[in-house]
Amino acid sequence: MIQNFQGMARKLTAKLRAEGISNPAVLAVIESTPRHLFMPESLAHKAYENTALPIGQGQTISQPLMVASMTQLLMQHDCHKVLEIGTGSGYQTAILAQLVDQVFSVERIAELQYQAKRRLKKLDLHNVSMRHGDGWQGWKSKGPFDGIIVTAAASEVPPALLQQLTDGGVMVIPVGTVTQRLIVVRRFGDEFEQKELGQVKFVPLVPGATV
Ligand code: SAH
Repeated sequence: MIQNFQGMARKLTAKLRAEGISNPAVLAVIESTPRHLFMPESLAHKAYENTALPIGQGQTISQPLMVASMTQLLMQHDCHKVLEIGTGSGYQTAILAQLVDQVFSVERIAELQYQAKRRLKKLDLHNVSMRHGDGWQGWKSKGPFDGIIVTAAASEVPPALLQQLTDGGVMVIPVGTVTQRLIVVRRFGDEFEQKELGQVKFVPLVPGATV
């Protein structure tokens, strides 16, 4: 059992700062959020290392540096209402919930969604709505969103997600199969501007049915 995570979390945020994360609000929520509660207890001793870890069902909790980078990108654009695709452990969801007004999160594996929901409740984060569904479709009835974050790699930018961005909205998404790149898409009316960032490694955004 981890009794006192603050010291370890402080070291982790120092590492993130050294890796170029500079947004004080993002660093502060990472430092105060107990990442060890978002994984199986047998892995909790690794929770404050800067690595992705398995969370069951063949899925992973993303690397802290990736969570911090993607969150910082969204914050640069002053997002308030964010759609997340790939709830997974709920860790990225919890970070976002402390920085924006509303988070909508879609996950295809019911068991992971159930656990994530319990964790967020335990941490008293109530500005999150969750949907068990296919992230390729987004969540049209709750849109549009001024920020969209996809935490699984898509073979292409899902067209439905583009349509659910507000004018001026921003999406951060890993795209590719074998080689993946982080892409930032901004919407200006009916135009979409795409910027490619570095190479990344995510589990795939699986098309189709939920489980
Ligand atoms: N941000 C999460 C990342 C989890 S891994 C975390 O740090 O814990 C990516 C997640 O995307 C997995 O839980 C996987 O089940 C989910 N996923 C994959 N394809 C999906 C799809 N089509 N729709 C919704 N969720 C999907």
